Amino acid sequence: MGIIIKVDICTGCETCVSECPFGAIEMKDDAARVTEKCTLCGTCVDACPAYAIEIVDEPKAAPADLTAYKGVWVFAEQRGNKIVPVAYELLGEARRLSDALRTELSAVLFGTGMDENAKRLIEAGADKVYLYEDRLLDEFHEDAYADALSALITEHKPEIVLAGATSVGRAFVPIVATRIRTGLTADCTMLGMDLEKRMLLQTRPAFGGNIMATIVCPGHRPQMATVRPGVMKRLPPDPSRRGEIIRIKPAAPLSSKTRLIETIEEAGHRINISEAELIVSGGRGMGGDKGIALLHELADALGGVVGATRAAVDSGWLPYPHQIGQTGRTVSPKLYIACGISGAIQHLAGMQSSDIIIAINKDPDAPIFNVADYGIVGDVFTVLPQIIKKVKELRG
Ligand code: FAD
Repeated sequence: MGIIIKVDICTGCETCVSECPFGAIEMKDDAARVTEKCTLCGTCVDACPAYAIEIVDEPKAAPADLTAYKGVWVFAEQRGNKIVPVAYELLGEARRLSDALRTELSAVLFGTGMDENAKRLIEAGADKVYLYEDRLLDEFHEDAYADALSALITEHKPEIVLAGATSVGRAFVPIVATRIRTGLTADCTMLGMDLEKRMLLQTRPAFGGNIMATIVCPGHRPQMATVRPGVMKRLPPDPSRRGEIIRIKPAAPLSSKTRLIETIEEAGHRINISEAELIVSGGRGMGGDKGIALLHELADALGGVVGATRAAVDSGWLPYPHQIGQTGRTVSPKLYIACGISGAIQHLAGMQSSDIIIAINKDPDAPIFNVADYGIVGDVFTVLPQIIKKVKELRG
């Protein structure tokens, strides 16, 4: 697909310039002109009062030279000068992929005053860090982030680009993929590699989570994926690792159509379940407030946090930030205790990479036992008080 502006019909009214959400249209010689920022969203086609803009099918381009693309990249998202955990998790996974492909692993970091963070990315597995230093990138601006990453990819041609499926990654990475005309698999929960074809196998839940689909990008490069936080394992930091920091200082500063007025922290629920090392999680089998109180008691005794299934959240027993699963948080704690949870695929999608899973369920055939390392068949109202008592005894 491509876009054409019929200059003989264009009246130069500039409606398309102001309507384009990506700032992708500029005026030249009194006529509108589309720039490489265009994502083919079609807003200008609908907005043009003179019907001078059209989206057309392009003749099939010659296949891209896939061998020109080298290296694995991880977009290392930072918020308030702190790298988000999923970036380290992705570096752990990308190290495995780049070692298998015998290629370099690079991290891409945006913002100023990031030298310490760049070093930490090297300690976490990166061979190189592309440090794009522009004040506008200190905070998230969708258009500026998309401009910066698109420019870097176009210049350096990485073979694979990974980013966290955070609110930031989900917002701007699709724009980058569209702009550089490649495929993107969003929200992956597993990555693999077909080494012979150098093809990234990108697995994510599909059809309402009823199947896991493995998606490949055979004809375009880079192969791009966003990956859910909490599913990959970070490597232990190695302070002896050495790497190169490449500073990107473009001649012209980046610009944005947005201005950050204020950052407001979400009030109320400050639990960060994605980073918890121990989660006591409850489902419909907890029956209500009395059961949820038991979860809190055990979590407090063990120094963990409380998680929930969607059924428990929908019942109003716990607020949404506690929900684990396909439409909730993805977690990967050292210990996950599933109480009164059946083990629906949508719940498993968010917790099955936990190191150790203990399931308590009165139904011996509950699917949760298929992923559990230890299973207790019994009533939560009998089993949990005994565990709580024992833990308290042991902890003095
Ligand atoms: P149930 O399936 O009803 O299981 C309750 C379990 O408790 C049963 O196994 C029962 O044997 C056991 N039990 C009952 N009483 C006791 C007792 N006294 N002692 C011991 N055991 C007992 N679900 C999520 O969790 N997270 C998601 O993000 C999510 N996203 C979804 C997205 C989509 C598009 C769809 C369609 C569904 C999604 N779901 C999600 C819902 C999911 O399909 C299940 O319905 C849900 O996970 C079931 O929750 P549950 O295990 O608490 O309840």
